[in-house]
Amino acid sequence: MKTLHFLFFVVALVCTTTTLSQELTKKAIAIPDIPGYHVLKCDFHMHTVFSDGQVWPTQRIEEAWQDGLDAIAITDHIEYRPHKEFVKGDHNAAYTIALDKSKKMGITLIHGCEITRKMPPGHLNALFISDANPLAIDSFRLAVEEVKKQGGILFWNHPGWVNQQPDGIAKWLDEHTWIYNTGILKGLEIVNEQTYYPEVHQWCVDKNITMLGNSDIHLPTSMYYNRAEGNHRTITLVFAKENSTEAIKDAIIDGRTVVWNGTTLYGKEKYLNELFKSAVVCKNDTITATPKEWLQTEICNNSDLTFTMQIAKKVEGYNFPESFALKPGETMLFSFRNAGTTPDTGKEITAVYNVMNMFPAPGKTLQTELKFNIVTKGK
Ligand SMILES: [Zn+2]
Ligand SMILES: [Zn+2]
Repeated sequence: MKTLHFLFFVVALVCTTTTLSQELTKKAIAIPDIPGYHVLKCDFHMHTVFSDGQVWPTQRIEEAWQDGLDAIAITDHIEYRPHKEFVKGDHNAAYTIALDKSKKMGITLIHGCEITRKMPPGHLNALFISDANPLAIDSFRLAVEEVKKQGGILFWNHPGWVNQQPDGIAKWLDEHTWIYNTGILKGLEIVNEQTYYPEVHQWCVDKNITMLGNSDIHLPTSMYYNRAEGNHRTITLVFAKENSTEAIKDAIIDGRTVVWNGTTLYGKEKYLNELFKSAVVCKNDTITATPKEWLQTEICNNSDLTFTMQIAKKVEGYNFPESFALKPGETMLFSFRNAGTTPDTGKEITAVYNVMNMFPAPGKTLQTELKFNIVTKGK
């Protein structure tokens, strides 16, 4: 009888363990939409066993779902396939294998690949292509022209990668001008994995090329990132009309992106500002506290982003905090001093802050305003 009990226990344990090991859980990324656009969380650069990655293509879909992403591109190297003796299949295989799972899990899968050349021109990701096989040709110029013929676009990956730029500084060469002049170089990776390239960020500003940041993950994502612990892979936030291949393509061509790396955000001033204003809500009144010369209100951060604030301008009559942080999902009691003894009821006051972790250009932080209406309450 004891043996039977024990056996039952073992069977129950095995069943429970099996069930648990099959469970996938998602940690969504909370970022409110901005006026006119959804905010899509996207990673346009990753690898599978069909090049030098270590996972099967469907796992990239499951990982994207777990990480709360909306869209990904699997971008295996065309020219570098170290497992090809054991992993057969053409250059479309990873996309074809992952497509069905992507539809079932609600992840938009963009057909892509990585054109992998020595510098110049370095590595280029092709997105929105219909067939990766014709890109397996010697001439990179013919490969680029093929991407154009298929209606695809290109972005330049890790332009300052130390393996190709020993000093770690990206250089814009004649070959890049040639690609740019084809009209399909629509993006530059200003962040690849965890590496930020300020010079590439500046090119995006100067040449009006879209800013992108991607994981370029080769191993399982769980070996690098744990969303449940608050860290995340580098992604591109895309401001799109809907979650579809066409809408994402339109957004990239139109420059509607912000790169999210760690707690830092890079993007056009307009989109950084809209992201901030959608995420951060000031309670629309200011309540007098005790003693009367202290005012306070609530500032709510409705997102998983962090905003590090530093005062940009002094406002006469009010002593705003010099610096503070708006942490993910937190509401902060924002207290400041009124220089006079009676607050101006009904008056709107504006505090001007620099968001020290939002960068429209290298070294330039976003300046934004917090507005409060004074409503006197309490004593
Ligand atoms: Zn690469
Ligand atoms: Zn890569």
